[in-house]
Amino acid sequence: MGINYYNKKVECASREELDSIQLEGLKRAVELALNSDYYGKKLPESGITSSDDIKSLDDLKRLPFTKKNDLRDSYPYGFLAVDRSDVVRMHASSGTTGTPTTIYLTAEDLDRSTEILCRSLAGTGASSEDVFQNMMTYGLFTGGIMLHYGAEKLGMMVIPVSSGNTARQFKMMKDFQTTAIHATPSYMLYLYSKMEELGIKRSDLALKRGYVGAEPHSEDVRKKIENLWDIDIYNCYGLSEMNGPGLAFECSYKDGLHVWEDSYIPEIINPDTLEPVKEGEYGELVLTILHRDAMPILRYRTRDLTRFIPGKCRCGRLHRRIDRIKGRSDDMLIINGVNVFPSQIEEVIMRMPEVGTNYLIIAQKSGPLDKLIVKTEVTKDVITDDTRDLYSLKARIAENLKTSIFINPVVELHEQGSLPVSEGKAKRVIDERNE
Ligand code: ADP
Ligand code: ZN
Repeated sequence: MGINYYNKKVECASREELDSIQLEGLKRAVELALNSDYYGKKLPESGITSSDDIKSLDDLKRLPFTKKNDLRDSYPYGFLAVDRSDVVRMHASSGTTGTPTTIYLTAEDLDRSTEILCRSLAGTGASSEDVFQNMMTYGLFTGGIMLHYGAEKLGMMVIPVSSGNTARQFKMMKDFQTTAIHATPSYMLYLYSKMEELGIKRSDLALKRGYVGAEPHSEDVRKKIENLWDIDIYNCYGLSEMNGPGLAFECSYKDGLHVWEDSYIPEIINPDTLEPVKEGEYGELVLTILHRDAMPILRYRTRDLTRFIPGKCRCGRLHRRIDRIKGRSDDMLIINGVNVFPSQIEEVIMRMPEVGTNYLIIAQKSGPLDKLIVKTEVTKDVITDDTRDLYSLKARIAENLKTSIFINPVVELHEQGSLPVSEGKAKRVIDERNE
């Protein structure tokens, strides 16, 4: 398997080199953070008044955690650490869980973020030979424009088509012989389900690889996309507070996502005790961004649940790997007292070949109890005149779910393409109990 580096020196740095880059970066981030209104007050409360207080990476633990609400409460400029005139770019989160938060970058910050994306893309074999169709939403959302910059700098021909308009997506893919795309995993599945209807054949297209992110998805969904399209799918993780996509990215071995540790310090904590979890255990990912001068954020609680993958990756990069995101700590549904992650449901149903490309999870009140409804689309060949087949499929899905989540769901089968799809992040969980 070919391994492609963009900046081999940093990508293949030794642990000692990475530690020393991180320590320097942390000192700098703290020094700059102290200029901001927020950290200017907050850090001295923890006894940090200058970067001299950071003597080793262990001192990270002395810094307070930062939460999404801290960013919201300091809207718009409370975290700004440089003069406003040094800022060249702002972005905002997509606001899945409330008021958006904003971030700022200087020209150098933007260059550094772009380089990380070049490394991420190059690591999957992408090059100037590629035609890259970016199907993520452009605008305030980091997903579109940030990866655009990386792809362009790497020399790929970028088609900034943005999200939606499936017919146009196919037309561009065909006319320009697109080789790489970036989309949400749910959109990649939806796109495939529309191909035949829009009169396109797989052989009309030159697609080789896809980058998927912005929403949790299971390994089975990756496999499903790879098998349907016959391409390689790479997981790309990020959040707007940390400059968006690509802060962690899969290399060609697809065995976890490397966090670019020269630019971020990752920690995984128990969200209740706030202590680090044991090596390899799941917990909440906490990130410190180094080298974003306009707006340092220290120990940001992402609410995303993952774990460090122990051991070294075969690609030679020592930047630590995280596992695919299992969900957000606030995604968890409590059904009659049992904790259920939507990702557990996805894993079970997407493994079943009869299940199509979309599903929906609904929680309802049923008297004093909770009711869990799982609606799944099924592939065309499952819909026959024999209703016994459908009953038996429904029963098998329910049985498989019961084994995994210990709850008896109500399963509903739907025709391919009939459940709602969203242009941005998929909204696959509807909790009607509090309405
Ligand atoms: P918002 O927090 O409003 O959704 P963002 O656009 O910043 O705004 O979304 C970042 C979040 O999207 C992450 O915290 C994570 O929950 C999710 N996400 C992004 N990439 C991935 C990925 N590859 N796998 C799973 N979840 C992801
Ligand atoms: Zn690797």
